[in-house]
Amino acid sequence: MYVVSVENVCKEYQLGEQLVHAVDDISLSVEPGVFLAISGPSGSGKTSLLNLIGCIDRPTSGKIFINEQSVSGMSDNQLAALRLKSIGFIFQTFNLLPVLSASENVEYPLLQRTDLTAAERQERVDHFLDVVGLSGRKKNRPNQLSGGQRQRVAIARALAGSPSIVLADEPTANLDKHTGVSILQLMKKINEEMKTTFIFSTHDPRVVALADRLVKVEDGKVQALGIRRSGEWLLSHRQTN
Ligand code: ADP
Ligand code: MG
Repeated sequence: MYVVSVENVCKEYQLGEQLVHAVDDISLSVEPGVFLAISGPSGSGKTSLLNLIGCIDRPTSGKIFINEQSVSGMSDNQLAALRLKSIGFIFQTFNLLPVLSASENVEYPLLQRTDLTAAERQERVDHFLDVVGLSGRKKNRPNQLSGGQRQRVAIARALAGSPSIVLADEPTANLDKHTGVSILQLMKKINEEMKTTFIFSTHDPRVVALADRLVKVEDGKVQALGIRRSGEWLLSHRQTN
């Protein structure tokens, strides 16, 4: 059983005359409950790959399965429904709505959930703001919060829908090193306690050090896969031509 499977996925962009192979024949599978880092230099295809896994974008070729379900044949509405229930997103620039309070930002995606009552929404908002240590900041707007606190709100928002997968694209890139590590430690704690699968991209070795699975990408290809065993990375290198 895999929460995510990617099979021979390619993503090409036409940039003027040039065809960019942002994701170039990537295959990988992700087991439930892992804390997976996708590492690679800028331009290596990390964001493109995460957007494909998150069903924000469709591949040029290849197949993607979320919770063993192929997403290839799904309509845009079906993909939106899948994202709403199964996937939480955390972004480099937090992407909070500036006019809404911390509570309202966490509640915002839940407003689309017709299966939840207002009381259930409020319960989730309070619970997840508590999980990220922001119970005392519920009424604050993003500009009244530090960068680290904003990312905590974004983590609460990502978790509030009880997704099976949380995707985070360079979640620490706009934070100082110390705050970045503490945000990753919070994500790791949630991963261990709630068994939520986390897939995050980074080019920061300190962030990679907290992962238990590693996918190294370069030029849109998987360069190596890693599993941590007793603190040490076991890396299997893929042949790249
Ligand atoms: P990373 O997140 O690792 O920095 P990206 O996935 O953003 O890498 O980009 C991979 C490659 O695809 C880069 O060469 C980038 O310029 C290109 N690219 C990404 N998005 C687009 C787009 N919308 N149009 C054209 N080229 C793009
Ligand atoms: Mg990127």
